[in-house]
Amino acid sequence: MFDVLLNEDERNIRDEVRRFVRDKVDRELILAMDSKAKEYPYEFIKAAAKENLLGLRFPKEYGGRGLGWVSEMVALEEIGVLGIALGCAYSLPSIVGEAIDRFGTSEQKKDYLLPTLQGKKICGEGLTEPRGGSDFFGTNTTAIKKDDVFIVNGEKRFVAGGVGADYFLVYAKTDFKAPAHEALSAFLVDRDMGVKVEEEYELMGCRGMGAARIVMRNVEVPVVNLVGELNDGNSIFNAMMVPERLTSAAGPIGMGRAAMEIAVRYADKREAFGRAIKKFEAISFKVADCTTSLDAARGLVYRAAKKADTGKWCRKEVSQAKVFATEAGFVAVHEAMQILGGIGYTDVYPIERLYRDARLATIWTGSNEVQRLIIQNEVFNEILAEDRSLKRDVELDTPGAYKTDEKVYTEAPNKYYPN
Ligand SMILES: Cc1cc2nc3c(=O)[nH]c(=O)nc-3n(C[C@H](O)[C@H](O)[C@H](O)COP(=O)(O)OP(=O)(O)OC[C@H]3O[C@@H](n4cnc5c(N)ncnc54)[C@H](O)[C@@H]3O)c2cc1C
Repeated sequence: MFDVLLNEDERNIRDEVRRFVRDKVDRELILAMDSKAKEYPYEFIKAAAKENLLGLRFPKEYGGRGLGWVSEMVALEEIGVLGIALGCAYSLPSIVGEAIDRFGTSEQKKDYLLPTLQGKKICGEGLTEPRGGSDFFGTNTTAIKKDDVFIVNGEKRFVAGGVGADYFLVYAKTDFKAPAHEALSAFLVDRDMGVKVEEEYELMGCRGMGAARIVMRNVEVPVVNLVGELNDGNSIFNAMMVPERLTSAAGPIGMGRAAMEIAVRYADKREAFGRAIKKFEAISFKVADCTTSLDAARGLVYRAAKKADTGKWCRKEVSQAKVFATEAGFVAVHEAMQILGGIGYTDVYPIERLYRDARLATIWTGSNEVQRLIIQNEVFNEILAEDRSLKRDVELDTPGAYKTDEKVYTEAPNKYYPN
């Protein structure tokens, strides 16, 4: 078992969550969710809360365990084995909790974070609008202050957990003159303040997690429910994107791993042309490639989590982990189905459900195209900022151009960048 990157506490949490997944999660619940007989998995959240497994990294006084980000990612991979719907229900307290823990008042922590981690309140987050999710800062939802309330108007769609949620973290425009990044604020909006919840679409996978559209028409949100500073939604959004993207990275590693374990056992038993199919390299090399990618993905997730633990800016590492892990997870499930052949396409094995689930991971929490935009942006900034700080001036295509304080490259640059 791959654990060289984990310390003893992290290995213990992995084993504890693995036992929870094995012993305390009813497979019938997953099947009921997938067949749409169940709209929201309250019993799963209550069971996780009972074991004190929600929001592991938050302070104990607010219901967490005070652990690090790596522990949470280890837990997420284990929960991920169950698929995205339960993985998402498990992650949301961590995502919404980040906003409240980092930016909320002590009343907000007491009234929202604590009951959320105790499984007594269900949360959802409203970022994406019908007009689009990638251009988050172009939001149309508005919040206008009137006396001691904000009047909120707008719609958010694809709100995971929306059907079951008691409250939503909602971003709205509060400054109509400022640039987009200085114009948004975040609010805790209770469902019973007048939020209309509509289940609008049938989903390809991830069913039963209660994805909904929420409609707010003149909803009066008390001023005390503003999270952080007015017009500082940008800071809260950036903080929340760490758990949002890391949890959506770790889950698919669990899905890919689960699918590969099924495929390995199947390939060991299933025969074709008088031998076990694992003897065909066309089959066994899929296992080699997929497990290598999953292990690499895990390394990227842990690296980003470790950097998050230092409190340093970790956007590049988080986006790299999200892109790589979601693609590795999806490919592993896809190849596992191929290894099983036709039976993999049926509901005899959970692979077809994992396949439908895993497809979402490259789209949500910031699509992988948007993650690549972020990564290249961070890389260009990193390298060019270092050039500027060293007063390094690069003249293209000139031998000897790559002069720095420490090094003098005497060859033409294309020696170092052959492509
Ligand atoms: C099941 C499900 C659950 C979800 N849960 C939530 C939730 O709980 N809360 C929430 O707020 N949102 C949620 N989402 C929304 C999700 O985050 C968005 O779908 C996602 O961010 C993409 O936004 P979009 O669908 O509007 O696509 P668009 O933004 O319209 O993008 C369409 C395509 O264009 C690409 N694109 C857009 N801009 C660029 C660019 N600048 N460069 C390159 N390519 C670009 C995108 O990558 C994508 O391929 C959920 C979605 C689903 C399907």
